[in-house]
Amino acid sequence: MKVLKFGGTSVGSVESIRKVAEILSSYKKKEKFVVVFSAMSGITNLLVEVGQKASTTDISYQQVLKTIEQKHVSTAKTLIDVKNQGKVIAQLKLILNELQDLLHGVYLLKELSPRSNDLVLSFGERLSSYLVSEFLKQEGVDVTFLDARKVIITDSSFGSAKVDFKKTDKAIKDYFKDIKSSVVTTGFIGSTDKGETTTLGRGGSDYTASVFGAALDSEGIEIWTDVDGIMTADPRKVKRAFTLPQVSYIEAMEMSHFGAKVIYPPTLQPAFKKRIPIWIKNTFNTAFEGTLINEKTSATDHSVKGISSIENISMLNLTGSGMVGVPGVSGRLFGALARNFINVILITQASSEHSICFVIDSKESAKAKDAVEEEFEHEIKAGKIDKLHEKDNLAIVAVVGDNMRHTPGIAGKLFSSLGKNGINVVAIAQGSSEINLSVVIGKEDLTKALNVIHESFFLSDVKTINVFVVGVGLIGSALLKQLQKQSTYLQKEKGFKINVVGLANSKKMLINENGVALTSWKEKLDEGEKANLKEFVKRMIDLNLRNSIFVDNTSNKDVVSFYHNILDESISIVTPNKLANSGLYKDYQKLQETAFKRGVKLMYETNVGAGLPVINTLNDLKDSGDKIIRIEGVLSGTLSYIFNNFKGDKKFSDIVKEAKEKGFTEPDPRDDLNGKDVARKILILSREAGFNLEFDDVVVENILPAPCLKAKTVEEFFVELEKNNNVFSKKRDEADKANKVLRFIAKLENGKAEVSLQSVDSTHPFFSLSGSDNMIAYTTERYKERPLVIKGPGAGAEVTAAGVFGDIIRISNYLKG
Ligand code: ADP
Ligand code: ASP
Ligand code: MG
Repeated sequence: MKVLKFGGTSVGSVESIRKVAEILSSYKKKEKFVVVFSAMSGITNLLVEVGQKASTTDISYQQVLKTIEQKHVSTAKTLIDVKNQGKVIAQLKLILNELQDLLHGVYLLKELSPRSNDLVLSFGERLSSYLVSEFLKQEGVDVTFLDARKVIITDSSFGSAKVDFKKTDKAIKDYFKDIKSSVVTTGFIGSTDKGETTTLGRGGSDYTASVFGAALDSEGIEIWTDVDGIMTADPRKVKRAFTLPQVSYIEAMEMSHFGAKVIYPPTLQPAFKKRIPIWIKNTFNTAFEGTLINEKTSATDHSVKGISSIENISMLNLTGSGMVGVPGVSGRLFGALARNFINVILITQASSEHSICFVIDSKESAKAKDAVEEEFEHEIKAGKIDKLHEKDNLAIVAVVGDNMRHTPGIAGKLFSSLGKNGINVVAIAQGSSEINLSVVIGKEDLTKALNVIHESFFLSDVKTINVFVVGVGLIGSALLKQLQKQSTYLQKEKGFKINVVGLANSKKMLINENGVALTSWKEKLDEGEKANLKEFVKRMIDLNLRNSIFVDNTSNKDVVSFYHNILDESISIVTPNKLANSGLYKDYQKLQETAFKRGVKLMYETNVGAGLPVINTLNDLKDSGDKIIRIEGVLSGTLSYIFNNFKGDKKFSDIVKEAKEKGFTEPDPRDDLNGKDVARKILILSREAGFNLEFDDVVVENILPAPCLKAKTVEEFFVELEKNNNVFSKKRDEADKANKVLRFIAKLENGKAEVSLQSVDSTHPFFSLSGSDNMIAYTTERYKERPLVIKGPGAGAEVTAAGVFGDIIRISNYLKG
């Protein structure tokens, strides 16, 4: 005979109860069965609440009681035919009256003992099972109702009573001797020898099914719930979790013990003992196979089977010199905890024996502290053992799998993926069976950690990179277009899925955890909410998504002011914005240090030479041990264009005008000609090369005559420039005579940075520069005779966006590593 169990959500509503009846109707044709029901979903929690309220003389308990009544009565009214309704509702009311009397007593006594509490909780299963059994009868499924308290005999540890298997097995067998029909019974509850009602622990209806299954030597136990079986992780926390077709009893035990609520941990023992297979099935997706739990684990490509977690735990640490080499300390510690019924979830001890760490449910931490401090009262007074140190708001993540045994590299992979996402590991434990590796982390990092680990063990083929883009002007929109175009390639060939989660410009912002559709980002952003950078950053941090990258496509100072905070929250940054790296040296250094400390990246290849590989090359040279002797560069596309075209008898002012008309200059060309932008770039290169320079240390030659600088408007400036053309033509003619050309060059040598107009001869790499190209020459120990030269377009939205994209890919590669 098969034993089936339907959980709270499966009997939580009229529709789901109809589904259950459908499932059982098809069973009826094949064989007799035992079916265990939980309380309707939410009812057990309401019963906990109602008991609490009554015992604290909070009269609103009556309201809660009404809610419980209404839920059952209204379900009965919809499900049960009119001719039977009266009888069924009367019976429900009879049960509810008993509950009402009990609660009234609790209210008067102002006391709720564990014993009364169990009795209160028992009503959930009693009501639901009775109600569903009547509906089944009506639907033609012949069932007999059994109150499981008649056959499940337990000890009197109320709240999580232990089953007396000898008595229970006999009682169940005896009961079934005379039963011809299928049986409906109540999950979760039992009774003591003396007839006191007990409960088997929250989630205990699964256990009831297993107890019946074992007693009846059932050929199988089916646990029907609201998910497609046991999955690689809790699907509520990890969207990409998938069903495991087969897991071993031991794996299921480890996963459930560490939080996989889909099956209540003790359930596995009775079934395991008799080798009864357990199926986990979905009431709402009956065609799906679900998960089979038996002795074997399935062959899988993955070394890890599943990841589970427990929230709201505290870690307690017992330390002190008096513990070293003293036998019996741990015995006393855990003895004290056991005497107070405190369940220890995890233990670690450093080999120094100087401390023992253990992890428990936060709700029990005060009790645990008292118990342990009482046990070690003398040692604490004598200063040999310190008071218990407590750390709250933690969570445990456990990685489980039979195949983890003898598979090297699992811990490495686990810690490296957590580390790259800035998740701090507070404690670690691995059982010697090697099928469970547990880490304790901050509770706020839990969802992120689960997803990071899930991705690295199960979905190593595709990794999601979550990107937040601020600034969707020329560069930003070019970047989004490139991201869209490359997305299929990146997924297929590189294994990245780039999810643009956040978008903002100065007016609007938009955050969508599932990713903004890049085909329609403009419309979506227009419909977005009013921009607020602070809020945008806060939400990005609060979302705490794995593999997050913040992309700043602005040239805005305000955005930079958030960088430190963003990096400190373990989010990488990519930006063409020069302001962060060309401000005060101490700020530049602080950002670098923070990124390093948090294990994230701050990348700004496009700060110099747009998409040209200038900064990465410099870093590669430096990191590989080369020594930078000199850096020279034509670092402004505008100035490059102007001086490359300043030949023949062209007037300087005409060329500047031409450049402005072509859109190559800033609105006021003096912003290019004053050399400040170039100075910022050489400053950044100098800092990357290892020099501690400030902006004012860069010597900038002023090439503009005073009247040009003084001119109030751009028009006036051009008038003055025309008057002063001879200043420039003189320089050019002199250069010409010496077979040289004029170039506006930034230079770093001997720790000194300068920007000046120079004449160079044909042996110089910049001699042949044309158009508006940038050029950078690195002279190093290795590139001494002839410098390493990088040349190409150093401006433009497309190439800059490509550079930003390159940085995003570099970070993605690092995260994937
Ligand atoms: P029931 O009321 O049917 O007993 P539960 O709520 O007790 O259902 O258990 C099912 C829930 O367990 C799922 O909805 C899911 O959120 C959670 N869960 C946690 N970990 C896992 C996992 N690894 N696989 C499947 N479900 C899981
Ligand atoms: N109704 C009980 C609970 O909510 C038992 C169960 O659902 O398994 O804990
Ligand atoms: Mg459950």
